Amino acid sequence: MTAATPSDTPDLITLGRRIRHARTTRGLTLEALGRAVDAAPSLLSLVENGRREPRLSLLRALAGALEVQLADLLAAEPPSRRAELEIALERAQRGPLFGRLGLPGIRPSQKLPVPVLEQLVGLHAEIARREEEAIATPEEARRANTMLRRERQERDNHMPQIEALGEEMTRRAGYTRGALTHRTVARMAEDLGLTVLHVGDLPRSARSVTDWENGRIYLPPASIPGGHGLRSLALQAIAHRVLGHERPRSYAEFLRQRVEITYFAAACLIPQSVAVEFLTERKRAKDLAVEDFRDTFGVTHEAAAMRLTNLATVHLGIPLHFLRVGDDGAVFRGYANDGLPLPQDVTGAIEGQPVCRWWAAREAFTRGDRAAESYQYTDTPAGTFWDSMQTGTAADGRQFSITVGVPYAHAKWFRGRDTHVRHASTCPDPACCQRPPADLADRWEGASWPSARMHQQILAALPRGVFPGVDDTDVYEFLERHAPRPGPAK
Ligand SMILES: [Zn+2]
Repeated sequence: MTAATPSDTPDLITLGRRIRHARTTRGLTLEALGRAVDAAPSLLSLVENGRREPRLSLLRALAGALEVQLADLLAAEPPSRRAELEIALERAQRGPLFGRLGLPGIRPSQKLPVPVLEQLVGLHAEIARREEEAIATPEEARRANTMLRRERQERDNHMPQIEALGEEMTRRAGYTRGALTHRTVARMAEDLGLTVLHVGDLPRSARSVTDWENGRIYLPPASIPGGHGLRSLALQAIAHRVLGHERPRSYAEFLRQRVEITYFAAACLIPQSVAVEFLTERKRAKDLAVEDFRDTFGVTHEAAAMRLTNLATVHLGIPLHFLRVGDDGAVFRGYANDGLPLPQDVTGAIEGQPVCRWWAAREAFTRGDRAAESYQYTDTPAGTFWDSMQTGTAADGRQFSITVGVPYAHAKWFRGRDTHVRHASTCPDPACCQRPPADLADRWEGASWPSARMHQQILAALPRGVFPGVDDTDVYEFLERHAPRPGPAK
């Protein structure tokens, strides 16, 4: 049971219960034990209740009198289920949650029947769980997310242990090079005693369900044969087991597990050694391209771009940034260890924040040819960056862009470095792009009324412009395009 546990009093309670257990099983009273070890019964009572730390000499004497090993008294496990419940109740009552309730405490004495103890401890655990749940407000979620992103940034988005695990497991299942096949993923599952089954009736809120008892991973049916999504889902389900995940007790832990299983799946779909060999060769040829990395390993553009952030800095010495941006200009996902200042809110969160309209991530939407990558240089107050962009269409039909970029000095390794497209961004200076051009504002402010689209993203907030959630420059430009032109004078 994990009811609120004050960190300063954990082991004394268990120690006390172990001493009491040893005493009562020998039929000794406090007085009799007190005589045997030459200590006052009141002192022994305090020790047994976990309210006084016994000296080592007293502990030795107690072990002798009770005919047990000292290590036995000091063991971390409660001596019985009853004792376990008493300890849990004691801890819960000493915790801050119970204190705030203003209720009288009860002594978990021998008179309390075990079922009563079970219920009380269960209630305390539930109160603690609900408190955790209540902490996961959107605000708290944003902070946890931001903390994780910063951690990853500090480690150049590289997790060596998970890399090694992915490498080892794929090799053992027969992987040698190129794309990881469905067959190999199935063998990896078999190595763990698991069978992958595709079913049409998964709960809507679950991406996959694993039945540990019968060794089955349930996945949705294959909608796109050979699509990379199912391999990724199966690998993520496997990851919970091989990474030893336990049920998350907080939102931050939930997020961390998500980051780890995603990383594991990526490290299997694009195993490190083969990937680094490929990338190193391309770097030498000055022909690095996310689209080739994607095609070589048979993954989505986004997966290839994110995987590049795991490997490029550590193995190729290239700092970089990655952005997935929606057609509304808001960040969906992002990462940067190359000094590109990602837009942030006051909590440091980037999700839902608008990126500069001159950045490659938004310029991408203006390009005609959507089949291939496009490229651009952007001058920013933090220096000049080169980007490769690719747009796609999400399941909901909305467009998004994937950009991977590097500081100017590193553009030389990439295909597309010779682009002539160059834009200047002075964001966060509001004069850069956050205010509509003066002539358009003069023309349309007060003479138009856009109705905002509600954001799907829970984390999203786009507070800018005259109308909350609406990009007024976009609105004014739209109005310009569609306004009836004055015809020739009649
Ligand atoms: Zn701007």
